[in-house]
Amino acid sequence: MPAMVRGSCLCDAIAWQAEGPLELMSHCHCSMCRKSHGTAFATYLAGKSDGFAWLRGREHVRRYQSSPGFDRPFCPTCGSVVAGGVDNGYVFMPAGCLDDDPGARPTAHVFVASNPPWHAITGELPRFDVCPPGWPSTEILRDDPPEALPGCFGGRCLCNAVAYSVRARPEAIINCHCSRCRKARSAAHASNLFVPPEAFRWTRGEEFVERYRVPDAARFTHCFCRTCGSSLPRRTDDDVMIPAGSLDHDPGARERMHIHVDSMAPWYAITDALPQHPQGPGSGDVTV
Ligand SMILES: [Zn+2]
Ligand SMILES: [Zn+2]
Ligand SMILES: [Zn+2]
Repeated sequence: MPAMVRGSCLCDAIAWQAEGPLELMSHCHCSMCRKSHGTAFATYLAGKSDGFAWLRGREHVRRYQSSPGFDRPFCPTCGSVVAGGVDNGYVFMPAGCLDDDPGARPTAHVFVASNPPWHAITGELPRFDVCPPGWPSTEILRDDPPEALPGCFGGRCLCNAVAYSVRARPEAIINCHCSRCRKARSAAHASNLFVPPEAFRWTRGEEFVERYRVPDAARFTHCFCRTCGSSLPRRTDDDVMIPAGSLDHDPGARERMHIHVDSMAPWYAITDALPQHPQGPGSGDVTV
């Protein structure tokens, strides 16, 4: 266990550090984490907050109360989920934002009762329908999505301000492990599907969608809700990238591959049998 673990958001305005031991690390499949991160699951590293300190940007942190007494903190500039819970004597850090290998490794899948149909949980780690006894926990969002229009599927952010509808039948969800996706989603990897622009429409709250483009990137842009920080679809003239975690309905598509596995987080291990591309799809060899 390293003495110090640091974390920061995608735009680098907010950073923190924590002294160990922080050993409670798990993959959370609850519907709130899914929407907040826009991914299949979130991974958190948690422990007592004695050794926690903000390095910069504490004043920038925006919080959304997703359940009574539980705030989800995020960077209002780039939309990364940042460290939280500090005032309660306990800190939890989204592992995707860690800049150091924490030494700890995930020990469980929690809230698997909320896992969506498009993500298969694999591997040997213990699984808990909700939370293991004695763990700090929050309530699950009652997943009561509105009905999909015929032939369509849709999604929303966590606070309900922004919603969208898609009329398409995409086939693939792509898990991207690049360092930008990990920071933007503050998770092990992004889970995205792509649809044609004409198949997509905002049904509510487009004006609440913030966009952060990484300055030195050709097109990497993270879109998120201004109020709750949830990852949201990114629309260009060519396509619309939909963070699968924001979905309310089964899109029919399933996870098909991992890309940029050369950049995979040191604390994560792929346990499914999907093809793995070292970089982008079509670049380099596929390893399975
Ligand atoms: Zn930021
Ligand atoms: Zn969760
Ligand atoms: Zn929202």
